[in-house]
Amino acid sequence: MTFPPRTPVRVQNAHACIGSIYEFIAKYERWTADGRADICDFALGNPQTMPLEAFVTALREAAIPKDKAWYAYKMSEPSSREIVSKSLERLTGLQFPHENIFMTNGATGALLVTMNALIGPGDEVIFNSPPWFFYEGMILNSGGKPVAVDVDPATFDLDLAGIERAITDNTRFIIVNSPNNPTGKIYSPDTLEKLGKILEAGSKRIGRPIYLVSDEAYRAIVYDNAKFHSPTTFYKNAIMIYTYGKTLLTPGQRVGYIALSPRMDDLEGLRTILFSSQILSGWAMTSALMQHCLGDLEKMSLDVKALERRRDRFVKGLRDCGYEVRSPEGAFYITPKTPIEDDVAFADLLAREGVLCLPGSVVKMKGYLRASVTASDEMVERALPKFAAARKQVLAAR
Ligand code: PMP
Repeated sequence: MTFPPRTPVRVQNAHACIGSIYEFIAKYERWTADGRADICDFALGNPQTMPLEAFVTALREAAIPKDKAWYAYKMSEPSSREIVSKSLERLTGLQFPHENIFMTNGATGALLVTMNALIGPGDEVIFNSPPWFFYEGMILNSGGKPVAVDVDPATFDLDLAGIERAITDNTRFIIVNSPNNPTGKIYSPDTLEKLGKILEAGSKRIGRPIYLVSDEAYRAIVYDNAKFHSPTTFYKNAIMIYTYGKTLLTPGQRVGYIALSPRMDDLEGLRTILFSSQILSGWAMTSALMQHCLGDLEKMSLDVKALERRRDRFVKGLRDCGYEVRSPEGAFYITPKTPIEDDVAFADLLAREGVLCLPGSVVKMKGYLRASVTASDEMVERALPKFAAARKQVLAAR
């Protein structure tokens, strides 16, 4: 790849970092271009069924203007902040003042605004690996240095000792994502409490707060009646990131938020820089329309029990044909081990049969696939014999 002259090094590095997902998306577009009816699409966490009817009704009603300012420039509207504040009080028991809430264009927007506001030259950002595939590129693009800490491979739990070792004088924040994409892990109160203590001690040592950025995109997607605990309730200098895109399975209709913990140090200063960062990051607010219907959206969710049944069927079906696979505690993804080491080659083989999965190496899980349960039940049934056949084929060729 040759870049145009004077392309900033940070942009080049960020691009290199998302190279594998770029390559995958190019293939995915070819695989799906001809609209084959027999495709089983587990690749990217996109909906494979029609959206919630209530969602469409809410948007339709909210689209009709009730005053002249209906489609005027909108920032974080008082009505939206009130809805979010009430919702967060129910979730965390904490009272989030309205000024602590910033309505954004989904979680990606919220993360970018946070990064642009906080990261300076030489600042390090810790993230847990395997990660969501854009963290590292976003950190680089914002001028920071990504520092990966691998989770415990046996349990997918946070490596707390590894995190402690990764903290330096330059650590700016750590990103924690629970329930996790791609591992499906929900971090326990015990783990989060220990993490909070490590961050507290680290902040003391370096003489300024290390922030905890809590990516809670999947917090409503939990299985087996598991309880999600917000990492923000275990540490005071915490910044919550949320998106409605997963809970409603409508990621193209961008709405989410940043919420600053009410216990945070220097709240006033942070609010000020987040506000300007939000405007200067390309008006990274959500739209007027999404704010008008937020009260309705807040009450909706996709059918998580149906997802759970699909997860169970998919995991059992894969195990029955010989795959080693864990059952995720939350989020959208199951991650079977590939029967050969080369997960890209194996994903390509499945794709030729119409079964689309993300190769694990795109999300630093070499030797695995990532398959999203946002596909339909019928896709799972059609795909299972193909998973079985592909496994047999590669094992026979060894
Ligand atoms: N964080 C995680 C962990 C995600 O999986 C995703 C979406 N796949 C995002 C953030 C981005 O969410 P949004 O679509 O709202 O930008």
